[in-house]
Amino acid sequence: MIKRLIRTILIILAILLLIAAVLGALYYFTEPRITLKGESSMEVTMKEGYQEPGYEAKFWFKDITSHVKVSSDLNDKKVGEYVVKYSVNFLKKTASTTRTVKVVDKEPPVITLNEGSSIKVPITGKFEDPGYTAQDDSDGDVTGSVEAKGIVDTYHTGTYTITYSVTDSYGNAATEKRSVTVEGEPEEKKNKVIYLTFDDGPSDSVTPQVLDTLKKYNVKATFFIIDYGESAEKIELLKSAIAQGHTIGIHGYSHDYSEIYKSVPAFMENITTLEEKIRNDLDYEPFIIRFPGGSSNTVSENYCEGVMSDLVTKVQEEGYYFTDWDVDSTDASGNNISTDQIISSVKRACSENQYNIVLMHDSDAKQTTAEALPEIIEWAKEEGYTFAAMEKGGPTVHHTVNN
Ligand code: ZN
Repeated sequence: MIKRLIRTILIILAILLLIAAVLGALYYFTEPRITLKGESSMEVTMKEGYQEPGYEAKFWFKDITSHVKVSSDLNDKKVGEYVVKYSVNFLKKTASTTRTVKVVDKEPPVITLNEGSSIKVPITGKFEDPGYTAQDDSDGDVTGSVEAKGIVDTYHTGTYTITYSVTDSYGNAATEKRSVTVEGEPEEKKNKVIYLTFDDGPSDSVTPQVLDTLKKYNVKATFFIIDYGESAEKIELLKSAIAQGHTIGIHGYSHDYSEIYKSVPAFMENITTLEEKIRNDLDYEPFIIRFPGGSSNTVSENYCEGVMSDLVTKVQEEGYYFTDWDVDSTDASGNNISTDQIISSVKRACSENQYNIVLMHDSDAKQTTAEALPEIIEWAKEEGYTFAAMEKGGPTVHHTVNN
């Protein structure tokens, strides 16, 4: 009887021991477990910020989530890669895991235009950009990086567009546009100024004579040039023209109508190629264009219908003034036009009621233009005219577009 009892007790003890051993083994070999909700590697934007997606922790079947400690240096207002650490200590057993959080900036800067996105300027008034500010969530004040593109030619009524753009350090770009309307009736012009302009140069033979005459009479003028090749002499000519105070304008890298007027992009490339070259060779920023054939030309119609209508807007939006002429010297109306014809054409067409932007040429074939120049200047001075080079914000003449 006792024997049986002892045996039973022993069996029970053995079972208890076994259970204790199993439990002990289970305790020994089991770790707490932390399970992350959401991705263990996530990307959040600065704007949406970081929100802890949650976690769970268990030890066997026991929920020990409340024992989990979360630590991190995460700053979701600053771009970077951060680690969130989750750790738990339960019954002297520890476990930990991490989550990687990448904070990215997807927000463009905010550009604020002073005086709003639509302003008005009286004709022949001065346009001064009222300014702007730009703020970025990552970069802070980025006003200094804003690029404003587009011109307002206050000598012509119409609506002009200025485009402001800026990109933050993470490639987020912002753009704002301002429309500037030039309105009103122009006043009568009684300035008695003449703007001599020379197209199609520089040439080795005619341009030096023109420059000498201008220098002799202390007259400033404007040269709308085409590609001058790699000629060191021509570069020197242009540099001395700049040094003498003349304006260098863009006529175009090529003068070939079939090439330059086949499309808007083709025309713009013809402008920017020459502009780049001028900038590199002459350290000069051209700001004004003369369309080959003038903005009123109809020849462009053979290559692209409507191209001039698009171009007059496009070049101004890209930041260039353009000018035609209101005095034609007729030096391009044929070969070897006589000096008499050139002189009388200019005399006849100049008037104090207009801007007197005189079309002339200084290509190799225009020797008579160089010869006519002294008499034109002397006559104009006697008549009380002064001379000026074209300037930013100064008068321009626009023909009626015919294509
Ligand atoms: Zn030309």
